Amino acid sequence: MDGGFRPRARADRDRLQGNLCRCTGYAPILRAAQAAGGDRAADPLAVEREEVTARLRALRDGRRVVTGPEGDTAILPADLDDFARVYAETPEATVVAGATDVGLWVTKFLRPIAPAIFIGHLDELRRIEQGETLTLGAGVSYTEAWPVLADRFPHLDAYWSRIAGWQVRNMGTVGGNIANGSPIGDTPPVLIALGAEITLRHGNSRRRLPLEAFFIDYGKQDRAAGEFVEAIHIPPQAQGTHHAAYKISKRRDEDISAVAAGFAVTVENGTITGARLAFGGMAATPRRAAHAEAALTDQPFGPDAFEAAARALTRDFQPLTDWRASADYRMLAAQNLLRRFWLEQDGAEPVRLERA
Ligand SMILES: Cc1cc2nc3c(=O)[nH]c(=O)nc-3n(C[C@H](O)[C@H](O)[C@H](O)COP(=O)(O)OP(=O)(O)OC[C@H]3O[C@@H](n4cnc5c(N)ncnc54)[C@H](O)[C@@H]3O)c2cc1C
Repeated sequence: MDGGFRPRARADRDRLQGNLCRCTGYAPILRAAQAAGGDRAADPLAVEREEVTARLRALRDGRRVVTGPEGDTAILPADLDDFARVYAETPEATVVAGATDVGLWVTKFLRPIAPAIFIGHLDELRRIEQGETLTLGAGVSYTEAWPVLADRFPHLDAYWSRIAGWQVRNMGTVGGNIANGSPIGDTPPVLIALGAEITLRHGNSRRRLPLEAFFIDYGKQDRAAGEFVEAIHIPPQAQGTHHAAYKISKRRDEDISAVAAGFAVTVENGTITGARLAFGGMAATPRRAAHAEAALTDQPFGPDAFEAAARALTRDFQPLTDWRASADYRMLAAQNLLRRFWLEQDGAEPVRLERA
């Protein structure tokens, strides 16, 4: 499929991620996209984009918008402070950011979500602060976060390409992926491995907690009614820290993880001085593997430590069987990710991955 395509082809292929074609095959679609892409002057969407954007911007007059009949309202707060105020006053409301989860509650399950508070337009939630600590506003989309994360943490570049597909990445937010509390969300394991913290806000009060402490149990997070995720903070990493991020799913693109993992292993003078091994899909919440981490800590940085950690995982997790993967598969996959991590650090191709 690569043959003969110009540089735009990679971008066009990404845009096709997750779109199933059962008629023409993908090559003619990609060729058509390339042909159409060359003639933007004929594309009314491209021509009118700026004008439409300017007209929409002009509608923003800094006031809160409330639409819909009593009992079925949608609220667009004026700004972040207004959101904090209205959510504290209306804690039963559904917060809607990118709507890539909430949209499905409505279209698939016909679930009423009113009153809904839409936050996708709040610039303050879309800020990215690049100090020593990297801070992402909760409303930063996957697409916006991607280059910033990949620049600071190169191991997240390929991982990020496995999250959803192009369209969902443009809308879905990192804050939404955390707030939904899913045990199989893709960002929590890698953020927990990086030692991320989150800021939660209720009205004018804020508190900060390690991301791993946010996930209490299945469907239960440390978030009070009317409280929302405001920002995610990723601290600088200790020197000598080796990172990796893995996602195992049935399809490469646009698929839910069977297992996801983020590893951060710090090595000083050949000895492992710290390990953060976080997994998704292995328990009711995204969680660190305490026994496996203990098996690594203070050990020489070598295959024996990772083998011991892989075996210790059976004490950390009793995964479930569901349609994505069996419990045995999940455990074996998670163990093999630890073995693979070592092989990659060692510079070898991961060729032999065995059942413990
Ligand atoms: C086709 C498709 C593919 C997908 N693929 C993946 C995937 O590969 N990996 C993955 O992890 N997920 C995937 N998802 C799920 C989804 O994209 C993510 O969970 C997304 O990050 C949710 O963000 P959002 O902004 O769309 O949240 P929304 O749908 O707007 O909200 C999700 C939940 O979070 C709450 N919420 C949102 N923002 C805040 C906030 N700041 N504070 C408090 N509560 C908040 C909402 O009230 C709601 O309960 C996929 C979804 C679709 C439709």
